[in-house]
Amino acid sequence: MDSEQLREYGHRMVDFIADYYKTIESFPVLSQVQPGYLHNLLPDSAPDHPETVEQVLDDVKTKILPGVTHWQSPNFFAYYPSNSSVAGFLGEMLSAGLGIVGFSWVTSPAATELEMIVLDWLAKLLNLPEHFLCKGNGGGVIQGSASEAILVVMIAARDKVLGSAGKNSLGKLVVYSSDQTHSALQKACQIAGIHPENCRVLKADSSTNYALRPELLQEAVSRDLEAGLIPFFLCGNVGTTSSAAVDPLAALGKIAKSNEMWFHVDAAYAGSACICPEYRQYIDGVETADSFNMNAHKWLLTNLDCSLLWVKDQSVLTESFSTNPEYLKNKASQANLVVDYKDWQIALSRRFRSLKLWMVLRLYGAETLKNYIRNHIKLAKVFEQLVSQDPNFEVITPRIFSLVCFRMVPIDDDEKKCNDRNYELLEAVNSSGKLFIIHTALSGKIFLRFSIGAPLTEEKHVKEAWKVIREEASYLLRK
Ligand code: PLP
Repeated sequence: MDSEQLREYGHRMVDFIADYYKTIESFPVLSQVQPGYLHNLLPDSAPDHPETVEQVLDDVKTKILPGVTHWQSPNFFAYYPSNSSVAGFLGEMLSAGLGIVGFSWVTSPAATELEMIVLDWLAKLLNLPEHFLCKGNGGGVIQGSASEAILVVMIAARDKVLGSAGKNSLGKLVVYSSDQTHSALQKACQIAGIHPENCRVLKADSSTNYALRPELLQEAVSRDLEAGLIPFFLCGNVGTTSSAAVDPLAALGKIAKSNEMWFHVDAAYAGSACICPEYRQYIDGVETADSFNMNAHKWLLTNLDCSLLWVKDQSVLTESFSTNPEYLKNKASQANLVVDYKDWQIALSRRFRSLKLWMVLRLYGAETLKNYIRNHIKLAKVFEQLVSQDPNFEVITPRIFSLVCFRMVPIDDDEKKCNDRNYELLEAVNSSGKLFIIHTALSGKIFLRFSIGAPLTEEKHVKEAWKVIREEASYLLRK
């Protein structure tokens, strides 16, 4: 590591990235390349001798950027956002610069302690119950993804219940969620060895705006108990991926508690909005949960990856995940004086991710972050109104956060043709390169998702996007 080379190249790289952001609107938002395009552009093997940064950056411009889908473009309205910011970027840079591996407290005390502190800061911003703070039995940890967060709590919950029910009871364990839950839950079940026939995917429909009905859960749990099975894990949602539906946490938590089930709440996207007092109501009932996750890397200006997980009782995690080989033994850990985050996650090694969250919280401050969220929600309202005023379109579910679900309306009640037309519209809009949206399905209806959350998006981008959508739609209607 040559400091002077780092200084020189680092400046050049920052210039390159800053220029990228300046010109980001000139690229097609969705990459328009064909599968395998890069194989034809790059050599078959690594170079034998060093090349220059200029050569590499030239290739980035001409060969890599065409294959990039521009998630930070103000015209990116697909999936849920993946926020990048100056503070997040600086934090990532600092973390890469320090290059530590913070698996145990001793391997970099600041990494563990800063993580505990910023997770407490955020828990307080979310007004999470005290038991999620690190001063008692609970605490927060940064995972790489919501999928990992869900997996680790499921494994912890599984081991806890098997501890009392007996190791041979794995085949009896049952998991519950609505059919709107992210596929991360299904993956967790697969990895945790939950038998596929014991995954209760309960139907949610438009009568509850796609929230899970507590009665349905209660019925399923009662049936399973009668059959001699063991209900052990419930996943509730705040902001589902398809339509940002919100489950009634308090009622679900009550059922979980009376049946001694672990209750996890997945708020990967919408959790960020709950730092605003006016949106906090959507996690009311979180006090009944055993664990809660939200992705700061989605909508809280923190660069990927930074998925926040809080647990009420961290000992359940460490029971499942701790290992203590000779080479990792040290005085602080042996004396039980410290948190060793290696015992709260799957991997051993871990990055200094709290730095970027700390920088985001300090360089922006909570009020700016709240207004950032509010602005996106305001823009979503603008889009929702534009859609509602057009007779060729309809909003499919009531909007709560910054996601608008809409579609072109059916003609002559023909739902099949309507689905096909919406697919066609999606294709036309995305291949224009002017914006990027995705589709999903609810109750057999294909609809389009307009998700606002890119840091550079302004009202003019939303209005321009709507103009493109309308133009493509009227072309389809004339065909
Ligand atoms: N849960 C919800 C509600 C999501 O929207 C997503 C991803 O968009 C996930 C979980 C999975 O997140 P991750 O990619 O961090 O595993």
